[in-house]
Formats: sequence, C-alpha cells, structure tokens
Amino acid sequence: MTKRIVILGCGESGVGAAMLAKQKGFDVFVSDGGKIADHYKQELLQYEVAFEEGSHTAALILNADEVIKSPGIPEKNEWVQALREKNVSIINEIEFASRYTQAKTICITGTNGKTTTTSLVYHLLKKAGLNVAVAGNIGISMCRMVAAGSYDYFVLEISSFQLDDMYQFKADIAVLCNITPDHLDRYNYDLQNYIASKFRISQNQTEDSLFIYCSDDELSVANLAMRKGNARLLPFSFFQKNVPGAWIANGELIVQLDENQSNQFTMYTSELVLKGRHNAYNSMAAAMLAQALDIRKDVIREGLTDFQNVEHRLEYVATIRGVDFINDSKATNVNSAWYALESMDKPTIWVVGGVDKGNDYEMLKELVKEKVRIIVCLGVDNTRIHEAFGRDVDMILNTGSAQEAVHVASKLAKPGETVLLSPACASFDLFKNYEDRGRQFKAAVKNL
Ligand code: ADP
Repeated sequence: MTKRIVILGCGESGVGAAMLAKQKGFDVFVSDGGKIADHYKQELLQYEVAFEEGSHTAALILNADEVIKSPGIPEKNEWVQALREKNVSIINEIEFASRYTQAKTICITGTNGKTTTTSLVYHLLKKAGLNVAVAGNIGISMCRMVAAGSYDYFVLEISSFQLDDMYQFKADIAVLCNITPDHLDRYNYDLQNYIASKFRISQNQTEDSLFIYCSDDELSVANLAMRKGNARLLPFSFFQKNVPGAWIANGELIVQLDENQSNQFTMYTSELVLKGRHNAYNSMAAAMLAQALDIRKDVIREGLTDFQNVEHRLEYVATIRGVDFINDSKATNVNSAWYALESMDKPTIWVVGGVDKGNDYEMLKELVKEKVRIIVCLGVDNTRIHEAFGRDVDMILNTGSAQEAVHVASKLAKPGETVLLSPACASFDLFKNYEDRGRQFKAAVKNL
C-alpha cells in the first residue's frame, strides 16, 4: 500500500513538503486548522494534493504512516499528542527533504544572527561559483528546493523548533551562532531544554563534519564541553586566538585552519560591510566556513565587502537634517538589542517596546546609560521599559504608532545623533509582524 503522509500546517514548509511528497509518489494529505493563504492553495491544487482547512478531521490525520509538522505547531498540540500516542513518526520538512538529496548540508542555528549568517554564507558560496541553494527558516522550504532542482550544497537556516523534529538528518557543517535565553515558553521555561534543542544540530555529525561555534559565548562553550561530538571544532572569537579558528586582532579578521601561518586568511575589519561586533562574529563564522570549503581568499574578501545586508537588521534608512535613522526591527529580544546599542557610535534616541516576552532588561542598563539620551517607547504597554530605564535617560515618552514614534524622535534628535529602532520585543501589539513594523518605520522616515 502507498505510504500515507499527512502534513500538519500549511505555510511555506507544509506546501513544500506536499510538493515533494507528491512528486515521490506518496499518498499526501494536508490539514491546516486555520485558513490557507490563497497562493499556497493554488499550489496544492496544481499538484493535486488533497487538503482541508479551518479544522482537522481525525479520520484523515490519525491514519498517517508519517507526519510532517510545521515548526509553528507546539508539542502540546492535541493532534501532536494523539499521533504520539499512536507512535506515528513526526518529522519536519527538512528531515524529509534530506532523504532525497545528496547535497552537502551547511546548517546555521543559534539565538541571534541566523538569517544574517545564512545569507552571507550563501553569498560567498554563490560568488565562488558553487551549485548552491538557500532554504529553511529563512523563508523557502528545503522540500520545495529539492523538488525543483539538483544542488551540490544547501545552506540552511534552522530554528530550534525545527531541530526538535529532526532525527536522522546530518549537518556536514554546523554553525551555532550563540545561545541566549529565548522562546522559553516553548521549552517549559527550562533553559536546558532550549540548549539541548540547539545542540541537536550536531547529533549525527561524524569525524569529517565541522562544528563552527563562538568561543566567547558561555552557554555554547559550557554545553559543548559536556557533549561528546565527533565533528572537527572550529571556534571563532573576538578576543582569543585559536588555531584552528577565527579571531580579531589589531583591526584584522584572521582565519587559520592549520599550523601553517602562511595559509591564514586576513582582512581589515574596517572593510567588512556588516558593522558592529555581532556582525564581526557573523563575518568570522562565514569566512571560516568558506575557507574550510577552499573558496579562494580574494573571493571571500570581496564577498564580505559587497554583501547586501538583509532588511530590518541594523538597516541604514536615511540621514535627515543630520540625524541618522536605523531600522533594526528584527531585534525582538534583549540580546539583539544589546548588540545594536553596542554598535552605536553617536548619542542615540532609542525606539523600543512592543510585546515583552518576559525580558530581563538588566543587561542593557549600562549601555543605555552610556549611549542613549532619549527613549521613545513604541508599544501598547510600556510600563516595564519605564521601570527599567526611567532614571537612566534624559527623557522617556510613549508613542502608539511607527509614524508617531518617528515624528517625535525626529523632533527631539539633534544633528549628529542617531534614531535607532531596536525594539527588544515582539511586534504584534501594534503591527502584523516585525517586517510590518520595520516597513512602517522606514515609510515614516521617508515622509519626514
Ligand atoms: P535570526 O535569524 O537568528 O533572528 P538575524 O540575522 O535576523 O537573526 O538578526 C536578528 C537580530 O539580531 C538583528 O537585530 C541583528 O542586528 C541581531 N544580530 C545579528 N547577528 C547577531 C549576533 N551574532 N549576535 C547577536 N545579535 C545579532
């Protein structure tokens, strides 16, 4: 009998999985409790995939031989629970896709920096002329890419939710950017569960695999020491020389993978297109990875200078009457806002706020005292921001829309200052998502 694959959740990952499963001849059924977006529905119809939306039908789901689940559906979901009771295998689309490709996998995970590093690595490999695709959490499902073409390399952005449903998948090269507390609501408020989930990236690695990580990141280092992985370890650090490894010294980014110093890759950090210490980390990880793949040094160097950063990540918007406006709407947690503030070299009007995910603002206090002159809160409830920083700045005020925030900030800013949107919070109290928040901010700046 044909194996029955049921796909739970029909966003990009679900549709991609449906296409590939159909192409491979399975009996495929898609079930989404909400409404399926029109363009995805069109694709299901085109591939003649059976589906339901708005509710789940037990008889059509529980008879699955295997389930491919969208990363957005949590473990405690009643259907996931019912399938677990029946011992049905539940995987995610990346695990499924990897069964149908021989491509080498380069997998990037971590709390912050995944999308930036993934895009940068893809840029370097593409520039080097490799037959490479980018997929995963970045917005294109791997299944879709596997169904559509044949590649030698996959650069995959992988979130911890995705890792939770991966078992046999092997990362030939894994990059763990960093680990700081986030999404703890999905991990029973236990940091160890979240860390364990991130480390699943290394679970099937062998001696010929690479594990690239930040040796300045305490949680990464401590947990690496507790695990016995097989991969070759390649650390990167801002402060410490490690061979093999990547580090920064005397204004240079240096990568050295073997004892022979003449094989070093070096480049002035001032030439890196991505600014700020967090981006120096991302650049080190990408440069080291490219070097390990034997990409020519001049190609790596050029790639690190002509890469165009992804939208909403410390994105320069405009300078108006001497005031710089920067959109860092993607900073949805305290750690990423820390790096944004750290990279400010002018007095800052900080636009912050939104849905607080149980933030601990303590780690930002010193930077706020040092760099921020005025705080413009942008959220429905700004009480916690007032409590945390009210005494550290000259002025703190509330706004209720991106337009109002930009207007107020631009009135108060003096020439030579920077207005930084780096909210440290989720966006859905006032916006559809962080992209919407960033775009509204940029539109308001352009209207000034
Ligand atoms: P992710 O995909 O993991 O959410 P992004 O590359 O989209 O990461 O960046 C998210 C936010 O984190 C942005 O505000 C960005 O400026 C900041 N950021 C980027 N890289 C790092 C890093 N290595 N460490 C901390 N923050 C970072």
